[in-house]
Amino acid sequence: MKIYSFSRGGIKFEDGSAPDRVQSRLAFLPEIVILPLAAESGSRSIPVVSVGQHIEEGMLVARGQGSGSANIHSPIPGRLVKTIKWEPAPGFLSDALVIRLEGGFNKLGKPEIKHEWTGLNWFELRSLIAEYGVIEMDGLGRPLCDIFSKNSTVGSPLTFVVRCVFDDPWLAAEYCLCKERLKAVAEGCLITARAAGAATVLFAVSAAERKLGNALLEAAKRCDTSGQFTLAEILVGSRYPQHSDYEMETVLRQYAKKEDLIKGGMFMLSPATTAAVYNAVVLRVPVLDRYVAVGGPALKDRAVIKVRIGSRLRDLFAECGGFNVKTEESEVIAVIGSPLLGRAASGLDEPILKTSRSVFVSAVKRRGTALKKSFWFNKISKFLPAAACISCGECRNVCPVRLDPEDVYKRITYGKQGILSSNCIGCGCCDAVCPSKLPLCTVIARSPFGGDACAV
Ligand code: SF4
Ligand code: SF4
Repeated sequence: MKIYSFSRGGIKFEDGSAPDRVQSRLAFLPEIVILPLAAESGSRSIPVVSVGQHIEEGMLVARGQGSGSANIHSPIPGRLVKTIKWEPAPGFLSDALVIRLEGGFNKLGKPEIKHEWTGLNWFELRSLIAEYGVIEMDGLGRPLCDIFSKNSTVGSPLTFVVRCVFDDPWLAAEYCLCKERLKAVAEGCLITARAAGAATVLFAVSAAERKLGNALLEAAKRCDTSGQFTLAEILVGSRYPQHSDYEMETVLRQYAKKEDLIKGGMFMLSPATTAAVYNAVVLRVPVLDRYVAVGGPALKDRAVIKVRIGSRLRDLFAECGGFNVKTEESEVIAVIGSPLLGRAASGLDEPILKTSRSVFVSAVKRRGTALKKSFWFNKISKFLPAAACISCGECRNVCPVRLDPEDVYKRITYGKQGILSSNCIGCGCCDAVCPSKLPLCTVIARSPFGGDACAV
């Protein structure tokens, strides 16, 4: 079977400080959860509970208001103790609900009740998906129904691409989820396709994970008893950043040309999103938890943890045995997301969001720079004296969109005209290879959250 891969650039991304992709474990229940009312896309949900009110597990606590915002449910039973201002990054301010654990659980540990969905039409499925607060469980976290509406083109074919691409060791949580909830992920794919109006479901799988891809495809075929979907698998490269939208579209275009399978529009989602769809439609359970990969050189242990949404980073770090550095000597640095793409955590009370698929933690000595080189190294380069560019050309070799990161970085830094950075997909490959530790990606991509890591 042919492997479709993007043509140029990229890196082999390995990081020994990422958790092993073996098996997940369940987090202890958090004493406190913090639920921001605005997603990273900025739209705000409106609270429907008041301070002091008792809240049941899974109860609606904030309602989405049109495009960009989603319903929010309480992951724990408890009491709303207060609302706070949450500022994950300068210029991004949101209200957040603080719920303290109290009372009994009505979902945890109860037997699952499954609801038949095959008789539901796209409108009924979308209503359930919206009601239970399903959003894309990575990236910007757009409400799923917004994505469906954007891709609705009456009468024209639509392909749903399930992104099972593991080119980044920090995608360990997605990998464990696929293995442990294979049937839910696969059935969720069919439900998602029906809700979106897609007739074709394409599993895009890293070539190195062919076995997992086959298992997903077979599980989907078994669920599609009436044979209403066209189901297929495409093997893609495992070189980072294969899973990015840009590179995925590149290989899908090649595939469409050769295999004549993709016709009309397409949209892509992760397995975590289709598992959330399954929970909403089949189990009628809102998004209350998610798999998170937690690790990094400053933690004693690393693991894929199934954690309640709104849990604080400090609780996750405690699950991993705490820090292996003395905090009076070192500054601990936490980044949410992949080391190459992540954004700095605002502090130890930063909550896990529906989109938080990984957290990595490192540390820098308050004096000295005794750090081991690795992929996370450059993310904390602002603590370190960066060396001058030695014009080695490494950044040019790895840039998948054919930019010259050295040139663009220097133009931006020195305020020169003619900056051509709009094609940058912010993959971080240039950061990872630069021997001078220059924060190329951070400067070029200009993350809305500031990009670079900061101390917590
Ligand atoms: S990789 Fe770093 S040192 Fe080498 S050319 Fe690029 S910016 Fe300069
Ligand atoms: S310039 Fe942008 S696209 Fe190119 S390697 Fe750097 S981060 Fe990736």
